[in-house]
Amino acid sequence: MKDAVVIGGGPSGLAAASELAKKQYEIKLLERNDELGGLLQQCIHEGFGTILFDESLSGPEFADVFIEKVDDAGVEVELNTYVKSVEKKDDHFEILTVTGEGVQNISARSLVYAIGCRERNRFEIKIGGTRPAGVYTAGTVQRLVNLYGILPGKDPIIVGGGDVGLIVARHLHLEGVDSLMMVYPEEFFSGLPRNAQQCILDFDIPYKPRTTVKRIIGEKKVEAVELVEVDENWAPIEGTEETYGCDSVILSVGLIPYSEKVEELGAVIDPRTGGPEVNEFFETSVDGVFSVGNLVQIFDYVDDAVKMSFVAAEGVDDYLKGAGRKRDEPVRLKPGKNVRSIVPQRIAHESEGKIKIFFRPGLEKENAKVDIRSEGRVLKSFKKRYIRPSTLEELEVSRGVIGGKKEVVVDVR
Ligand SMILES: Cc1cc2nc3c(=O)[nH]c(=O)nc-3n(C[C@H](O)[C@H](O)[C@H](O)COP(=O)(O)OP(=O)(O)OC[C@H]3O[C@@H](n4cnc5c(N)ncnc54)[C@H](O)[C@@H]3O)c2cc1C
Repeated sequence: MKDAVVIGGGPSGLAAASELAKKQYEIKLLERNDELGGLLQQCIHEGFGTILFDESLSGPEFADVFIEKVDDAGVEVELNTYVKSVEKKDDHFEILTVTGEGVQNISARSLVYAIGCRERNRFEIKIGGTRPAGVYTAGTVQRLVNLYGILPGKDPIIVGGGDVGLIVARHLHLEGVDSLMMVYPEEFFSGLPRNAQQCILDFDIPYKPRTTVKRIIGEKKVEAVELVEVDENWAPIEGTEETYGCDSVILSVGLIPYSEKVEELGAVIDPRTGGPEVNEFFETSVDGVFSVGNLVQIFDYVDDAVKMSFVAAEGVDDYLKGAGRKRDEPVRLKPGKNVRSIVPQRIAHESEGKIKIFFRPGLEKENAKVDIRSEGRVLKSFKKRYIRPSTLEELEVSRGVIGGKKEVVVDVR
């Protein structure tokens, strides 16, 4: 019986596993791919580690730091191992895995899910038309280009102005794709301003805001798309349709946590984040089941995801020791005015110290004020110089401020 099994060998899983093994627990790490590192192995650009290490590393370099930690800490790693399902028993979990050698069962006292997220597809954003070859998600393109040296096309159109799309656009441009265009429904790019500048504006890559793809055209391969302008609610404006010739469509239209597996185990899912609801130690609503990384919410920076894995490791440690006084009634944290989502969704433990609260703003604003309130009373206010929906915000709050409350709301004004 393992003390904890960590499912997913991306940066969040690596960080949680190494931290727990350092505490002398017996830890197994299961990864479905043939290497560790998760998404980072295909992110060959720099920009990782600026918060944790104060230097800008590439994705694989950042992953290597944690792969080494996992090795040094003596974590037992199983690659090519897909976790099919998990069953909760009285005092432990039974994990059913599928490997090249067949199926196997592993028992563990606790679980850390670190299985990341998936990309939204064309049907989820209602792009009509035919179904030819040449329609990709941005992550697939990133993998093809960066790991296998294969270009998806000569004149692609990228749909979506978030960070993933911006970074993929720059890679394609640098690889020699000079007929490239980006469209997105927002007024401005939805990715970090730094990425918009460094990936699109610096290279004069053409882009069309308030525009989306209505229809894909082509029999065997993509031949063109029908573009349409959209209003501020992203509704298509009739009469603005135009045909744009291209040989591939690259979708970068959002990431969705892989929450089905924890949901099957009984965890409550937050419809706002798409991930499981967690407490301040990233424990889901199922005792002994923790979730970290992009499975909980889409983190802008891998550094933040990793830092939160360290917090989750503290929680697993408490759980395994049977320590960590839990409140009978957790404090509920709720998104209020101009807040799209909040993590953690509840504060469950009675202890000292500070808690990190992450929230995604629902508007763009200079000199914003963030209020933490309960029953109509403001408990604490913070000033933020600039907030925008593309940037996940972080607050640090003393437990004393929210202790004893039933419900605490975060507002932005
Ligand atoms: C294009 C792009 C650019 C980015 N650029 C930056 C950047 O510049 N700076 C930055 O800080 N962050 C960046 N990020 C974000 C960063 O990559 C993520 O924050 C980070 O990878 C999240 O780590 P994770 O461990 O939660 O998930 P992942 O890295 O996705 O790892 C999840 C792991 O779980 C495994 N898994 C899934 N299901 C199972 C299963 N059933 N059984 C076993 N294993 C399973 C997967 O194979 C994978 O290895 C970028 C992301 C993308 C997509």
